[in-house]
Amino acid sequence: MKKFVIGGNWKLQLLTVKENIAVATEIRDAIEELSLENVEVFIAPSFHALYSVGQILKGSKLKLAGQNMYFRDKGAFTGEISVDSLLDVGCEYVLLGHSERRRIFDETSPVINQKVKKALEKGLKPVLCNGETAKERAEGNFKQVNQTQLEESLADITAEEVAQIVIAYEPVWAIINKFLNPDTEITTATPEQATEAHDFIRGWLITTYGKEIGGQVPIQYGGSMKEANCEGLLNIPNINGGLIGGASLSAAKFKPIIEMAIKFANQP
Ligand code: PEP
Repeated sequence: MKKFVIGGNWKLQLLTVKENIAVATEIRDAIEELSLENVEVFIAPSFHALYSVGQILKGSKLKLAGQNMYFRDKGAFTGEISVDSLLDVGCEYVLLGHSERRRIFDETSPVINQKVKKALEKGLKPVLCNGETAKERAEGNFKQVNQTQLEESLADITAEEVAQIVIAYEPVWAIINKFLNPDTEITTATPEQATEAHDFIRGWLITTYGKEIGGQVPIQYGGSMKEANCEGLLNIPNINGGLIGGASLSAAKFKPIIEMAIKFANQP
């Protein structure tokens, strides 16, 4: 049975606590009737809304994620948030190394590696994002870029630890973000492009961590996933879910993707 993790990354899109609660409530209620065996669903709201959203998700099927965290426990680190704070408000996942962090905020893989280690130490599941830009792909470097990001972000992580991680392959050129893609047209990866990338990442995981664990780590696809294209993507053998930005901002857009994952999770 294939397992799926579907995540909603709300970025800096919903600015008030009220809006975050409203969308979280509609998604929570929309998925309550669904059978989510082998499918996990999380949302990553704005930091300032995490506590309130955590309260309304208690006892529901919808899980909570942070969009980022710092690797130190506490102290004089203005503007940062710690793992303990994310756990305190009910987070089970944290996004790490998202392209917007790597490419807009200059986060490096060694820094992301420290964050992955700290999240694992405290029992918060990292969703480790990686992916190449349009330029890196055009230069023929996409495998090397992804491999280097994985090697550096997962340095000194054991096979037992990697079993707690979700990987998100997110080609930067496919993410709905004009800051990241000022000169290129944003297009979803074709099933062929996604297959090649996910097979490559699966191969790297198996080579590095062995077949049993490397073969099981969920690899989400992220980049303009929506109702219209999720069937072709989620049906790809090494795609185990989606990290979704724009199409996670309402139940009407997000639920069909979750339902598609359920369909494939229930196929023998
Ligand atoms: C993302 O932010 O991880 C993402 C994939 O965004 P979008 O779905 O909007 O392209």
